[in-house]
Amino acid sequence: MGRYHGGTMLRIWNTRHRALEEFASVTPGKVGLYNCGPTVYNPVTIGNLRAYTFVDVLKRTLQVLGYEVRHVMNITDVGHLVGDGDVGEDKMEREAKRQGQTAWDIARMYEARALADEARLNILPPDVLPRATEHVAEQIALVQALEAAGFTYRAADGIYFDTAKFPAYGSLSGQKLEEKAEGARVAIREDKRNPTDFALWKFSPTDGTKRQMEWESPWGIGFPGWHIECSAMSVKYLGQPFDIHAGGMDLIPVHHENEIAQSEAIQGTPLARYWMHNEFLTVDGRRMGKSEGNAYTLDDLMARGHDPLAFRYLCLNAHYRSKLNFTWEGVAGAESALQHLRQLARALPSSGEPNPEAVSAWRTRFIQALEDDVNTPAVLAVVWECLKSEADPVVKAALLREMDQVLGLGVAELIGVPFGAPAEVVALAEERVVVRQAKDWAASDRLRDAIAEKGWKVEDRKDGGFSLTPM
Ligand code: AMP
Ligand code: ZN
Repeated sequence: MGRYHGGTMLRIWNTRHRALEEFASVTPGKVGLYNCGPTVYNPVTIGNLRAYTFVDVLKRTLQVLGYEVRHVMNITDVGHLVGDGDVGEDKMEREAKRQGQTAWDIARMYEARALADEARLNILPPDVLPRATEHVAEQIALVQALEAAGFTYRAADGIYFDTAKFPAYGSLSGQKLEEKAEGARVAIREDKRNPTDFALWKFSPTDGTKRQMEWESPWGIGFPGWHIECSAMSVKYLGQPFDIHAGGMDLIPVHHENEIAQSEAIQGTPLARYWMHNEFLTVDGRRMGKSEGNAYTLDDLMARGHDPLAFRYLCLNAHYRSKLNFTWEGVAGAESALQHLRQLARALPSSGEPNPEAVSAWRTRFIQALEDDVNTPAVLAVVWECLKSEADPVVKAALLREMDQVLGLGVAELIGVPFGAPAEVVALAEERVVVRQAKDWAASDRLRDAIAEKGWKVEDRKDGGFSLTPM
């Protein structure tokens, strides 16, 4: 039970049952949370970062509700192939060739960049960050167990999971095995028993090409299939069943179905009790993705002069189960809202005892919004309503401090910190002094409006100077 649980309860949408469910953890007061992390062969996109921002807000929500959270996110640094259906080159090895570096260097470089991007977005680091290449023994052990229980078969290029032997296959996405005809993107393969079968272990190529990442195994030299790492590492660090498994919704039909099959075929217990999936960041209605060729990175946003936290604000302003269409206007809008929020935070007092009842009334509303399937747009609405209200500034400060624990926008740190107007605003105000001395009142009014547009109010002082206050 969480700290704030007084009659209300956290309800979350569980993809597994396609229903809004009351959350109850396996161990009271504790939550095990796993999310599928980046494949580190090129920079993460802001689409990926939407997924990680959602997990971060979910984790902060659980913490504010009083749970002790153990968060695990994997690093996919081997085994993710270029083609669907377990064919094609390993993304890591292909990129290594392209850049003339080792696959290991590529993996470490993009892992570091992904984590740096997360830090810029105030995403709290996971408690455990396991790499697939450092858990090959655990993955082999799981494949061996599946083999011993009769769920696998040997094909030309690897050991495969026989999905026909796991009747629940497809239950996460609600698809029946026979309905899941392979799409146009997946070449039909003669040596697979069922179109949905997937590789657990792949053999190193026999055509003379040498892989950089390969390991000895009971089936010869090779490397793990993409899906097995998540089954092996989530259970190693969180046990089975653990509480919440998260990821973007593109992972539902293949990757997560496969994780469930691998982990539940023998165990007979669920891998995770709740499956939570974020909707896409889109461009013109299509998923933003590396493979779609329509992706932006956080560096792209920063190169255009945007504050990375404007992207966090943009994400928070949409519910995680709604599509969020990316536009530059949208980022700019989020950025001005964030700037405004910062100014209001600075204007609040950093000390003073708030009236506990007044704080509690607002708190109840924001906690209820969080408990309503992590409704961050509703939380932001409460923040704005509170800040614009006639409430005591000490109460506002107390509330903003608490809410920012979940929002992670870094505005709590600004409370009571005196603000200085940005240089461009000061420049406009100085220009206004000059035109006023020349008695050009029309120009003076235009400059006042320009300053107001940037969120500042200019006032003339008796000494001929000016003062700037946030609006
Ligand atoms: P990947 O590195 O492609 O395996 O993806 C890492 C995470 O980002 C996964 O949870 C994906 O589901 C998620 N993801 C990928 N593209 C998007 C997108 N456009 N919007 C939201 N999440 C995404
Ligand atoms: Zn995964």
